[in-house]
Amino acid sequence: MTVALAPKTSPTNPETVQAFVTLLGPDKVIRRKEELLTYECDGLAAYRERPALVVLPSTTTEVAAVVQLCDRLALPWVARGAGTGLSGGALPDGNGVLIVTARMNRILKLDLDNQQVVVQPGVINNWVTQAVSGAGFYYAPDPSSQIICSIGGNVAENSGGVHCLKYGVTTNHVLALTVVTAEGKVVELGGTVPESPGYDLRGIFVGSEGTLGIATEVTLKILKTPEAIQVLLADFATIEAAGQAVTAIIGAGIIPAGMEMMDNLSINAVEDVVALGCYPRDAGAILLVELDGSAVEVTTNIAQVSQLCREQGARTITIAEDAETRSKLWQGRKATFAAAGQMSPNYFVQDGVVPRTQLARVLREIEELSDRSGYQIANVFHAGDGNLHPLILYDEAVPGAFADVEQVGEEILRLCVEAGGSLSGEHGIGADKNCYMPQMFNPTDLETMQRVRQAFNPKGLANPNKLFPSPKFCGDRINQIPPEHRGKADLF
Ligand SMILES: Cc1cc2nc3c(=O)[nH]c(=O)nc-3n(C[C@H](O)[C@H](O)[C@H](O)COP(=O)(O)OP(=O)(O)OC[C@H]3O[C@@H](n4cnc5c(N)ncnc54)[C@H](O)[C@@H]3O)c2cc1C
Repeated sequence: MTVALAPKTSPTNPETVQAFVTLLGPDKVIRRKEELLTYECDGLAAYRERPALVVLPSTTTEVAAVVQLCDRLALPWVARGAGTGLSGGALPDGNGVLIVTARMNRILKLDLDNQQVVVQPGVINNWVTQAVSGAGFYYAPDPSSQIICSIGGNVAENSGGVHCLKYGVTTNHVLALTVVTAEGKVVELGGTVPESPGYDLRGIFVGSEGTLGIATEVTLKILKTPEAIQVLLADFATIEAAGQAVTAIIGAGIIPAGMEMMDNLSINAVEDVVALGCYPRDAGAILLVELDGSAVEVTTNIAQVSQLCREQGARTITIAEDAETRSKLWQGRKATFAAAGQMSPNYFVQDGVVPRTQLARVLREIEELSDRSGYQIANVFHAGDGNLHPLILYDEAVPGAFADVEQVGEEILRLCVEAGGSLSGEHGIGADKNCYMPQMFNPTDLETMQRVRQAFNPKGLANPNKLFPSPKFCGDRINQIPPEHRGKADLF
């Protein structure tokens, strides 16, 4: 195993800065402290570190030149898209370079006949649908952050969204990638035809959280806009009843385009802030179910889903048949994280997965945990695929509050893993959950992943200390992780 090299120079050394300026030009290199502040954190703002230097390349060739220079000088580097990640994946290394893709924001090719689009990684998720919707197409993965997050970040996190229940997460929509590896080599992964021989390196790269290299071009699959779409809101007295309705709908063989649940705390937060007036404030939970397909199929399914919800105790059912009402119903769901910011000075969003059948039980245990810990927890989540997003509300001005909240978050993830679920559904592991990886993976699993990382990133310079347990982020906790789980991880 190769040990991550100590930097041969500091990125703030004038000669080093000049070397980056020579490669990119002065307007693509940021070194003033006050300008660097912008890049201190991603969406997980509790973790902050100022990068030593920020560079803004605009082409694959420029990215490769930057990475080759980092390789020669043994400088660690971190890729950053829009910085909306919620697991600290784009948290900079204080002794390293932050490579920001904001200027790689061009849609390079629209190939509607083959239903493909080629984009640079800094293109915002929503721009892809905007570019093709006039021709009757859309890009399916739709994180709630879709108006601000980048395709490069989506690829690195294998992001999900409301429509991923039926259509799959980002990996199902990425056909090919141009990647600059950690040594600065440019490689093509995947291809534009459905099958290619050899290892699925495209699949390995998607979800690798910036630890294998930087995606500099992404070929995406686009889908035909369905003939009909309808959204239904079902209102339940309890979260358990809503959970049982989810199981009943999937059990009946219906796969909605999206199926989201919000609990009472989230409903009221959204109603307070967005003032939609369409979510019942006294509901224990609401389910938002979107059905799409041919007009006949949607009409049949909406009737069946309504019936199944009623059988599980739905108090009222509201059906949005036109685009305006539909978008109003979704608007609240998509604004929940923002609304949580109004409920409390700070919130910490967790992201875990449980098997659908365990939803009701795990939610009950989260409620008990909230009572025990004294921290309110709002729940809003992708119910169809069991992807929970508990929002733990706290005030960072209270001494010790963040440490408590981290513990509550860890406890929630433990519940998920014990229920047969996962440490992350879509936000990734990053700097936030790397210490918990041994809860889910055994030493051999982790070592196998490390070997993959080493093949692309032999010196450990690309996004160091993320994904695997590391002393930097696990602190004293690293000593509680059995050595066979952390040993080789320390090297990266
Ligand atoms: C309000 C809100 C709602 C959200 N809702 C969702 C949701 O519904 N579903 C969901 O999945 N996520 C959601 N997120 C999380 C976040 O938006 C996604 O993880 C998104 O994919 C991050 O994209 P980004 O461009 O901001 O990436 P960044 O935060 O900049 O980076 C994320 C990771 O990607 C790496 N990276 C960035 N660009 C590249 C590249 N070109 N090549 C290789 N690695 C790269 C970084 O190193 C880092 O590890 C939400 C976030 C917010 C703030």
